[in-house]
Amino acid sequence: MNLGFIGLGAMGVPMAERLLDAGHTLVVFDVNPAAAQALAARGAKVAASVREVGDQVDTVLLSLPTPQIVNDVCTSASGLVQGSAVRTVVDLSTTGTSMARSVQAALAARGIEFIDSPVSGGRNGAIKGTLAVMVSGPKASFERLSDVLRHIGKLFYIGAEPGMAQTMKLANNLVSAAAMAITSEAVAMGVKAGLDPKIMIDVINAGSGMNTASRDKFPKAVLPRTFDFGFATALMFKDVDLCMREAAGLGADMPVADAVHEIWRQTNEVYGGPHDFTRIAQFVEARMGVVIKPGEA
Ligand code: NAD
Repeated sequence: MNLGFIGLGAMGVPMAERLLDAGHTLVVFDVNPAAAQALAARGAKVAASVREVGDQVDTVLLSLPTPQIVNDVCTSASGLVQGSAVRTVVDLSTTGTSMARSVQAALAARGIEFIDSPVSGGRNGAIKGTLAVMVSGPKASFERLSDVLRHIGKLFYIGAEPGMAQTMKLANNLVSAAAMAITSEAVAMGVKAGLDPKIMIDVINAGSGMNTASRDKFPKAVLPRTFDFGFATALMFKDVDLCMREAAGLGADMPVADAVHEIWRQTNEVYGGPHDFTRIAQFVEARMGVVIKPGEA
């Protein structure tokens, strides 16, 4: 199938590469021209604008950083809504429930279908094609798109209403954000008491405290002190913030989530911009006056 792909970052490039590997052809665009180079070398056609993608292909996938950017790419005067060829937009970004609904309505008014399809599993999952792919929209559209989306991960049909998959994704990322924050605090507390953080992580992973932070993030990016897991602090804070807005709209009382939101807000003030979200461990270290370094407890 000839597909469009807009947003070629940490997630977009590996997902687009898997689609090329599966035999699909791609027309790609990113505001940063250098981002398209690797895909161009593998045969993707590079467009000069969002509009040019929308004029060339029937189905366009998005992997963009913020809800506002997704909105602009879809609905602005130079957006996909003006495209002469596009009929379906699949949003793989974490956009939040209300933005998904409003973009869906704006595109539907112009005869373009909007399917929200956020993903979870990180850059590594995108490379391996093992992402959890959460899809909401008409069941027939889900089935039609399955032949494309199955190449990036395991598909879950969440429901027919626009935004349902975004709600699922926000709940998932709240759990992931909480795990990263609480694992940082628990390990820093142990280091303050004289424990070795490597031994702590090994015990947690063999015991009942095991979670995605102790299993993946600490061994790969915190204990080696590379802080380069592949997800920006700003994006993690965006996700938790979107989740709290969703909770407020629903009248859901979530005191633990309130605390998780606050520590990510503060971490984002210190380690926003280009920093990886595993830097929350350094934020916790500074508050506790310790360094989480194996063999130095
Ligand atoms: P990223 O910042 O690495 O990539 C985003 C890309 O979008 C960049 O290349 C940027 O230049 C491009 N871009 C920005 N504005 C644009 C525009 N107007 N038109 C075209 N391109 C534009 O972000 P990422 O980590 O790849 O995340 C993308 C989305 O996936 C986000 O919504 C994020 O929350 C979500 N997500 C990320 C991860 C992860 O581990 N990185 C995991 C799951 C979901």
